[in-house]
Amino acid sequence: MKVLKFGGTSVGSVDSIKTVIEILENNLANGEQVAVVFSAMGGVTNRLIEIGKMAAAGNAEYIEFLKVVEERHFAVVRGMINVKNQSGTFAAVRGLFNELGDILRGVSWIKELSERTLDLIMSFGERLSTLVITEILKSKGISAEFCDARNIIHTNATYGMGDVDFEVTNKQILEYFAKTNALQCVTGFIASTADGVTTTLGRGGSDYTASIIAAAVDASVIEIWTDVDGMMTADPRKVANAFTIPSISYAEAMELSHFGAKVIYPPSLQPAFAKNITLKVLNTFNTDFIGTFVQKTANKKDYAITGISSIDEIALVNIQGSGMIGVAGISGRLFTALSLNDISVILISQASSEHSICFSIDPKNAQKAREVLEKEFSHEITLGYIDGISIEKSLSIIAIVGEGMKKSTGVSGKLFSVLGKNGINVVATAQGSSELNISVVISKSDLSKALNSIHGVFFQSETRSLNLFIVGVGLIGGTLLEQVKNQTTYLREEKLLNLNIAGLSNTKKMLLDPDGIGSEQWRERVNEEGVKTSLPAFVQRMIELNLPNSVFVDCTSDKDIVQYYNMLLDASISVVTPNKVANSGSYAEYISLQRTALKRGVKFLYETNVGAGLPIINTIQGLMASGDKFLKIEAILSGTLSFIFNSFGPGVRFVDVVKEAKAKGFTEPDPRDDLSGADVARKILILAREVGVPLESSDVRVAQLLPENCLAAATVEDFFQELIISDDYFAKLQSDAEANGEKLRYIATLENGKAFVELRTVDAQHPFYTLSGSDNIISFTTERYKDRPLVIKGPGAGAEVTASGVFADIMSISSYLG
Ligand code: ADP
Ligand code: ASP
Ligand code: MG
Repeated sequence: MKVLKFGGTSVGSVDSIKTVIEILENNLANGEQVAVVFSAMGGVTNRLIEIGKMAAAGNAEYIEFLKVVEERHFAVVRGMINVKNQSGTFAAVRGLFNELGDILRGVSWIKELSERTLDLIMSFGERLSTLVITEILKSKGISAEFCDARNIIHTNATYGMGDVDFEVTNKQILEYFAKTNALQCVTGFIASTADGVTTTLGRGGSDYTASIIAAAVDASVIEIWTDVDGMMTADPRKVANAFTIPSISYAEAMELSHFGAKVIYPPSLQPAFAKNITLKVLNTFNTDFIGTFVQKTANKKDYAITGISSIDEIALVNIQGSGMIGVAGISGRLFTALSLNDISVILISQASSEHSICFSIDPKNAQKAREVLEKEFSHEITLGYIDGISIEKSLSIIAIVGEGMKKSTGVSGKLFSVLGKNGINVVATAQGSSELNISVVISKSDLSKALNSIHGVFFQSETRSLNLFIVGVGLIGGTLLEQVKNQTTYLREEKLLNLNIAGLSNTKKMLLDPDGIGSEQWRERVNEEGVKTSLPAFVQRMIELNLPNSVFVDCTSDKDIVQYYNMLLDASISVVTPNKVANSGSYAEYISLQRTALKRGVKFLYETNVGAGLPIINTIQGLMASGDKFLKIEAILSGTLSFIFNSFGPGVRFVDVVKEAKAKGFTEPDPRDDLSGADVARKILILAREVGVPLESSDVRVAQLLPENCLAAATVEDFFQELIISDDYFAKLQSDAEANGEKLRYIATLENGKAFVELRTVDAQHPFYTLSGSDNIISFTTERYKDRPLVIKGPGAGAEVTASGVFADIMSISSYLG
């Protein structure tokens, strides 16, 4: 015999019931006897519980709710049974609803809903769905019979989750099925006590019904028909990339379902397990798909783990105190007290110091657990041996499961490392000695991120994803997006890296889309779908989305935006930016950003703060990390000033050089903003901090390059006039240098803990002597590079090189992913 079971979603609508009938017809055609177990129509059990509670609370609205449930059943009858034959089924359905209405009226009168009555109320869900489908089958000429499982499955009187009396039950099932050849349509989930009082087998218990029957009759196979493609590597509602596990062992399936994978109900496996019956999990909505085979031993798998499951909401109880150390029997008493009070424990973890024990339970039992334990340990608490009982809520458990874990090392390392890299704090952890399961307790708000990133490293380790949130799509941001667009295919195919643009904002509009805005049509999408830009809203949404491997890319030079960096880093979002404002603000702020990034295991990268794409900050950080000491830094850090002094020579007027720089777009609208040296001062300040010199901006001495009259000029035009007037001054600076065989250079220096920016002359031996164009140059004298300094030279400005520097920072985060 074959046992099939259809879950709530499979019997939820006319269309799905049509498919169920087809599946049954195909099975019957094979000649093997078939029993089919039905759940209540999707959502009905929950509705009935709600209706029961409303009635008990005296809320008469329950009557309307009940009407809706009734109408759902009528609609199926209308849709599936010929009008001429409908009346009998209508009458039977109405009869059941009348009976249920009477019970609910009683509940509303006495305003009490016992577990026993609730079981009775819930039983109508399966009784109704099975009745309706049996009638439909009969109307199609199939020899089908309604089988009320209460007549064959007996339990004790533990309402809500009856304990099956297998001796009686197995006997009754065998007798029942021996007498019939018709297709038996069995109500899932429900049973009765020996006295005939209705009980249930626990939520999701229809699977159990199928398994009990299959074990009793030694069925050839159990088919669990549901709404997904079998058992998957994770809950597909939570992890979009989850995929079907083709073959899984009983033990693994048990472990996965214990930890929340709803697709099969844990105890349902036990009877099948004992009898070695193959279980198949199949999709009613994709009947050709092979689904999952659950067997004693599974086929070899390609991955180190088999699946990931989670429990959304748990409470963690912690009991600690110095009086617990070395005292035998504490945990025995603890767990006995809990079990006597029907509080089941999901996970336990005790430190070897024995100073504390923590365990997780269903949050609805939290208060009861506290009372039970305070009573049990009242003596120890009074004496101060136990500090007390603390309970933490809003937590979730994630378990990774698989027999392959026994054979491969490094599984837990991979798990904790991916959690760490995503800034997810592990509150407690446990590994079963069977090595089939490693569980971690984390904050509920991190659940989705954790599941997705764990799934990513274990099942898609080849392709990693970065979620980019880019603010500022002007010159640099726009160029960056262009570069990302051009590299997308290469990165995906060659580097197995997926760059997902999850958020974009310009000054007017912003758009966040966790599924990706796309690098092709971003302009159109932001324009059409975007909402009015609000930086706080952008930041808040980004944090709420809590996507794994998130990177905030600030391509603005905005002052206000940097106030969010710390908050973002704290939310485990890396920050990449060419914006110098944060790093050149107070030293305390600079340090705090570094520390937050370190604490959260994310990156704060700003290579383009100095010298655009030139590898200046990376070089410093590399040398610092490897223990080198910086003795001196000399640098030309402004492309504008570099151009001006590289072009200023004999026979050229200073004013003409400045005008040319302005015409080439090298200067700010008012060239004095460059010539003031303020920007260079900010850069040397950042470099000083990078080499460990804790300077404030006021510590950087800037020698004024322009004479007073030029600075005082009211307009840019006036300023150029003043430059002409001061031409002698500049010409003399130049000719003096020339006379000494030297050149004028605008240099930032850091030496002996002091930073200064000034116009200097350099001789032909100096590496800056031969500089040309608008290049930047920087020379590091360190303990290791003492005789000849380490020199980095190249274009230090421009949208292309700056954007590519930002891109390189983003790429360096990707290489750091697990
Ligand atoms: P049914 O009504 O058929 O009994 P359930 O709702 O009990 O269906 O179980 C199916 C659901 O289980 C799926 O829709 C899916 O969201 C959820 N689920 C959770 N974990 C998994 C998993 N690892 N594989 C497949 N489905 C899962
Ligand atoms: N209808 C019951 C429930 O929702 C049993 C089941 O669907 O398996 O829990
Ligand atoms: Mg189910």
